Amino acid sequence: MRVLDVITAKRDGHRLSDAQIDWFISNYATGDAIADEQAAALAMAIYLNGMQDDELAHWTRAMACSGERLDLGGLDRPTVDKHSTGGVGDKISLILVPLVAACGAAVPQLSGRGLGHTGGTLDKMESIAGWSPDLTVEQMRDQLNTIGGVIAGATADLAPADRKLYSLRDVTGTIESIPLIASSIMSKKIAEGTSSLTLDVKAGTGAFMADRSSANALAKTMVDLGTANGVATSALVTDMNHVLGQAVGNALEVEEALDVLAGNGPADIVELTLALANDMLRLIGIDTDPAEVLASGRAMETFERMVSAQGGDLSAGLPRAAHQRQIVSAASGYVVGVDARPVGIAAWALGAGRARKEDSVSPTAGVVCLVKPGQLIAKGEPILELHADDPARFEQLASTLHESTLHEAIHLSTEPLEGSPIVLDRVSASTSKG
Ligand code: URA
Repeated sequence: MRVLDVITAKRDGHRLSDAQIDWFISNYATGDAIADEQAAALAMAIYLNGMQDDELAHWTRAMACSGERLDLGGLDRPTVDKHSTGGVGDKISLILVPLVAACGAAVPQLSGRGLGHTGGTLDKMESIAGWSPDLTVEQMRDQLNTIGGVIAGATADLAPADRKLYSLRDVTGTIESIPLIASSIMSKKIAEGTSSLTLDVKAGTGAFMADRSSANALAKTMVDLGTANGVATSALVTDMNHVLGQAVGNALEVEEALDVLAGNGPADIVELTLALANDMLRLIGIDTDPAEVLASGRAMETFERMVSAQGGDLSAGLPRAAHQRQIVSAASGYVVGVDARPVGIAAWALGAGRARKEDSVSPTAGVVCLVKPGQLIAKGEPILELHADDPARFEQLASTLHESTLHEAIHLSTEPLEGSPIVLDRVSASTSKG
């Protein structure tokens, strides 16, 4: 087979044959027969011309089979995972994994690190002293049987074709493509070995998909891919115009997650966590009310056990940035919401995120939103608190974002407005076929 024939077939809008897909994915994952610039050309051709449904299903399966596939069969509990397409202030996994585990499920969450303005779950967990993301498959199975929840790093051998392709897409303008995003996410989840999966597909300024209809299309594509590969999959399309909760940044988000596990915390975080937990439990047929389990403290207990099983020490406390600076409101009014995009970019510029995958992140940098939706604020009142290890970051932030952009991040109205729902749509296997 010739790689040029594969690239030109897609460039000219044809369906790739199953043999072309298998050949391309296995050679790109393992060998040097395909150069990065050739894989980048194919990614761009897919970005521009898309893929047919059965072509995408085959592409996804080939990526899932490009490396190790975990066997999570034979556990004492049913497996169910959640994947979010990434949002600003999205610390839901830290609460949801122990919560659903405390309801009786095995939740094998293999996560990556954050890129760009959305933070990764591993980066957040690593702000807990001593916590390690590295587990062997045997350790993972043991922890799933005894505690029920695992948050761990995906090994280099899980869907290696995606690992290579994703890094390439990141620098070639080919991230925002429904077939490429859907196959990237679903190949990893299929290889991870979970039997059921709830997807949290974000729509809004802080998400890959800015509008609700593209988010629905991505959700439907992923639900179909999961279902076709034997993973019971459903999706919630959720609002990502506004920051989730009030904290953005690694340790700051862990602190907020601990607050929710303790029975407090922002209402939007609780609402979304419970909606996702209900969906996950429905998929595996467990009839337990997650709200009761959260209120009972059992989810907190499970989180503490998960952390200490992986070497973490919550009693050491969370690290805090040496420097804080407040931004005050330029106007008065009722807070409607806090725009996710500028706040995500600010947290990233302060050190909470990375520009390239090799960069390290600050555990303490980030932004705390000091105001909540519904609150009446006066001109001059503090609205945002910036956290950084090095005060020079405040100046760097000023060159990335104008201060007025941060003022405008707080959406104000002259009237108190009804809050809008977080869950916008639900896509299940039967509705996705219709
Ligand atoms: N997350 C992934 O794992 N892949 C994508 O393509 C986008 C988000």
